[in-house]
Amino acid sequence: MDTEIVRIRQDEESFSGEEDAALRRAGEIIRQGGLVAFPTETVYGLGGDGLNRESSRKIYAAKGRPSDNPLIVHICRSEDLESIVSEVPEAARKAAQAFWPGPLTMIFRKSDKVPYETTGGLDTVAVRFPSHRVAQKLIEYSGGFVAAPSANRSGRPSPTVAKYVTEDMDGRIEMIIDGGEVGIGLESTIIDMTVMPPQILRPGYVTRQMLAEVLGEVDTDVTIMSSDSGQAPRAPGMKYRHYAPKGELVIVEGDAKAVAAYINAQAQADRRAGRKTGVIATDETLEQYRADSVKGVGTRADEETIARHLFTALREFDDEGVDSIYSEGFESDGLGQAIMNRLLKAAGHRVVRLQ
Ligand code: AMP
Ligand code: MG
Repeated sequence: MDTEIVRIRQDEESFSGEEDAALRRAGEIIRQGGLVAFPTETVYGLGGDGLNRESSRKIYAAKGRPSDNPLIVHICRSEDLESIVSEVPEAARKAAQAFWPGPLTMIFRKSDKVPYETTGGLDTVAVRFPSHRVAQKLIEYSGGFVAAPSANRSGRPSPTVAKYVTEDMDGRIEMIIDGGEVGIGLESTIIDMTVMPPQILRPGYVTRQMLAEVLGEVDTDVTIMSSDSGQAPRAPGMKYRHYAPKGELVIVEGDAKAVAAYINAQAQADRRAGRKTGVIATDETLEQYRADSVKGVGTRADEETIARHLFTALREFDDEGVDSIYSEGFESDGLGQAIMNRLLKAAGHRVVRLQ
């Protein structure tokens, strides 16, 4: 299949005639059962008609994703929620008021309209109303319900720029909409609204603290930061090895000086063994590392920058053919929890804790 790539300018108030025509074409592709990758404020999504079981099957096939790993249905109007869920709890109305449109996904009991192919066989459906103007327009032109996981091949880091969507999806889908670099760089927060208190299943840009301010008590799935062995996570996707670069990633935690000394020694040994080495560092520590490729993802004072650069750094190590990657650890609270959750998955929970 030939994949058409169209560009849409960022930060413009309105779409040009040409851009609008491309978005209408993209909507038509989705209505006809095809797939289109598109930018959102979190990461790039791989969209199909969420109410068409064939489309959802195609999404799994294009991603190489296990079909018990449910998709998120994206909407572009709050009122459209009612038709795909069987009830909207009061807490969900409040959360929607506070965080939609935006990077929050809520889990509801599904209505009959939503096929089990979209929900990975579950009686619940995950719903998000993104704030990205390209995503909103595409959803509108597609009929209102776009099922979309991240637009990467299963297991790989989620794409934050269209180049990495093309790398994973060229020839597998009808169209890629290139809308430049995404704003957040990590997937949405997922919260289950079918239980009381509501439970966070995947940490993201909307933090536990932000949700608690609106909802009062919120729980967090205990498996979010734990290793893959123990209990099964309640967001099925979280059980899979995820976000992973091709090289072997190890997280090193502890005092900054000790971390740098440890990583430099490891990297030196790796290089002697003929392995290409990489380090994920912060502005504060960048200068201290000796490796083939040292990447600063931002300052510790600004976790939003770190979130935006993390997946890109992992992809760049792949481009460079890095075999061994070491990363500093991050805070386990606030946005740091989302960063650390992705990093732990990408590392397959290989963590070295220095005294
Ligand atoms: P992705 O779009 O790749 O970020 O993945 C979407 C993730 O949302 C899945 O991997 C699941 O972990 C989660 N998810 C989607 N639907 C549900 C649901 N009904 N219940 C629990 N988790 C869900
Ligand atoms: Mg994903």
